[in-house]
Amino acid sequence: MYWQWQDPFYPVSDVMNASSTLDCWSLDSWFSGFNQPDYADFKEDLIKDVTALRTRVPAARNDAATLAGLLHEWESLQDRLGHLGAYLGCLSAADATDEAVQVEEAWFSTLNAESSKIRTLVQAALAQLDEATWAHLLEDARLRQAEHAVRRMREAGRKQMTTEMEALAADLNVTGLHAWGRLYDTLSGRMTFPMTFPDGHTESVPMARRRALMSEPDRRLREAAFHAGQKPWQDQAVTLAASLNGIAGTRLGLDPRRGRSHFLDEPLFDGALTRASLEAMMEAIHTHIELPRRALRHAATLQGTPALHFFDLEAPQIAAPEAAALTWDQACATVEQSFSAAYPKLGAYFREILSHRWIEAQARPGKRPGAFCTGSRLRREERIYMTFHGTMHDMVTLAHEAGHAWHSCVLRPQRSWAADYPMTLAETASNFGEMILLTGLMADPNLPEGMKAHLLDQEMLRAHANLINIPMRYEFEKAFYTERRSGEVTPSRLNELMSEAQQKLYGNTLLANGTDPLFWASKMHFFITGVSFYNFPYVFGYLLSQALFARFKAEGASFLPHYEAFLAATGGASCEEIVKQTLGEDLTDTQFWARAVKSIEPALTAYEATTAAR
Ligand SMILES: [Zn+2]
Repeated sequence: MYWQWQDPFYPVSDVMNASSTLDCWSLDSWFSGFNQPDYADFKEDLIKDVTALRTRVPAARNDAATLAGLLHEWESLQDRLGHLGAYLGCLSAADATDEAVQVEEAWFSTLNAESSKIRTLVQAALAQLDEATWAHLLEDARLRQAEHAVRRMREAGRKQMTTEMEALAADLNVTGLHAWGRLYDTLSGRMTFPMTFPDGHTESVPMARRRALMSEPDRRLREAAFHAGQKPWQDQAVTLAASLNGIAGTRLGLDPRRGRSHFLDEPLFDGALTRASLEAMMEAIHTHIELPRRALRHAATLQGTPALHFFDLEAPQIAAPEAAALTWDQACATVEQSFSAAYPKLGAYFREILSHRWIEAQARPGKRPGAFCTGSRLRREERIYMTFHGTMHDMVTLAHEAGHAWHSCVLRPQRSWAADYPMTLAETASNFGEMILLTGLMADPNLPEGMKAHLLDQEMLRAHANLINIPMRYEFEKAFYTERRSGEVTPSRLNELMSEAQQKLYGNTLLANGTDPLFWASKMHFFITGVSFYNFPYVFGYLLSQALFARFKAEGASFLPHYEAFLAATGGASCEEIVKQTLGEDLTDTQFWARAVKSIEPALTAYEATTAAR
C-alpha cells in the first residue's frame, strides 16, 4: 500500500549549508531509473492489471472461492501500486523542480482513483455476502491473517453508496473536494510578504519561510514575521474560507449517504479507534492541562513577558550551544550508540539502513522541506527522507524517522493486509525512537549543561504541540464542522471559532491579544483532503508512546518483546484490541491517558530546575 508518513510538525530549518559529504539515498533496487525500460514495463503491466481486475470483481459476487482469489490478487496489486507511488513520492521530494516527475505523479493519482473504484467494488461484493458464504470466505487459506482487513472492508461496504454513486463521487472529488485542497496549496505556495527585519532592511519573504522565522530565538524576528505574514492570509481569507467550507461541506454531504451520523465517524473508522477512547484521551488532557501549561508559563518567565504570544509558541527558549554543530557522521554515530545501548535490535537495524543507503539527508536546493519515512512492501525495504543541516533537531528527526522505519521492518514478515496500520498507531514507534535517543543523550555525563537545557526545552515544545496545540486544532475542527452542518461559515466566524479554541486550551498562558485568529487559514492541515481531522491521531501516538516508554523505563529490556508484539499487531486489529492484547491496557479508561499525560512531569520539573538559574 502507498504509505508515506509525513512529519509536518517539525519546523523547517532556515539554513541551507550545502554540503557534498552527506549521504544521498539509493533507489536503484526499486527501479534502474525514472522512465527506464524496467520502469516503463512495470507501469504498463500495472495499468493492464488494474483495468483487468476492475472488470472481474462484479462477476465474483456471492462466490467465496472466486472472491478470496480476487482479494488475494488485489492485495499484491496494491503492493505494486504502493511501490510505484512511493518511488514517485521519493523522486518528487528529492527534486521538487522535476516537472516530468510531477506530471507522472498527477497521472498516478488517476491510476489510484481507478484502484479506489476496485476497492468500492470489492467492498460491495463483501457487503452483500450472505452469512454462510461470508463464513466460508473467512476460512479460505488465501485470506489467513487478513481477517481484520477483510472485516473492515465488509463493514465499509455495508455503509458505502451504490458502486455507481461511489464511482461518481470518486470522479467528482478530483474536481471538487481535492481541487479545493489543491487551490489551497497553489495559493499558499505562491504567497510572499514584505518583511522588515530587526536590522532595518526589508525583503520579500516566501510564506514557506515564515514558520522557520517564527521559530527563531530572536523575538523581534518572530514578531515581525508573524505580523507581516498575516496580511496574505487576511487578503485571501474569503477564498480560503470558501475552500474550507467546500471541503467540510463535501464530507458532511457524503457522510449520511455512507451511513455515518457524525463527522467523527469517518476519522475514527480510519483510525481504528472508538469514540469512547478518543473522548477518554481528550478528557484526560483537559483535566491535566495545567501540566503542559506550566511549561509555557516557565517559557514566558524566561523571556520576561507575563504570558506568551502565538508567535512565541514554537520558539526555543534555550538555543542549542553554538559549538554544537554536528556532522552527518556524528549524528549517525550518536543515534546508533543510543539505539544500540537501549535496544540492540534497533541499533542493528539502524546500521543496516545506513549500509544500504536508505536515507536521503543531503542539504541541497530543490529538495522539498520536511521529513518522512516511506517504503516498498514489494521490496520489503524502507526509506527515510529528511534534510540534515547539522542541528540537534535534525538528529532527533533522524531518530524519529528511523523509529518509523523500524516499525515497518517489524511488519515485514506480515502479509500486506496485516501490515497496514492506521495513522493513530503510526507515530508510536517514531516517538519511541526519539525518546531512546533523548534519554541516551541526557544520561551522558559529558553532556554540557547548556545542551541538556536545550534538549529539555525541545521536549517541552513537543509536549506543547501534542497536549495543547493539536488538541486546540481538534477543538476548532469540531466546532467548525458542527456549525458547517447548518450552512457556510464566514471568515469572521472562523476567526472567532479559532480564537475560542485557543483560549480554551491555552488559558492565560497566551497574552490577551496573543491569539492567532487566522490560524485556520495558515495551517495547511485543515485543508488536507485525503484524511479528515488530521490532528487527534498525532496526540494519540504521542501519548501512547509516552505510556509505552514509561513502561520501558520501569521494566527495562523485558518490555521490548511486548513492544515488538505491539508493533507487529498494529495492522491486525483495532487500537483497543491491540493495546489490550499486547500491553494489557484499556484505552477507554481516562486513568490510562491521565498517567500518560502525567509522565511528562519529571522532564517538566527538570526543565524548570535546569533553566531557572540561567
Ligand atoms: Zn512521524
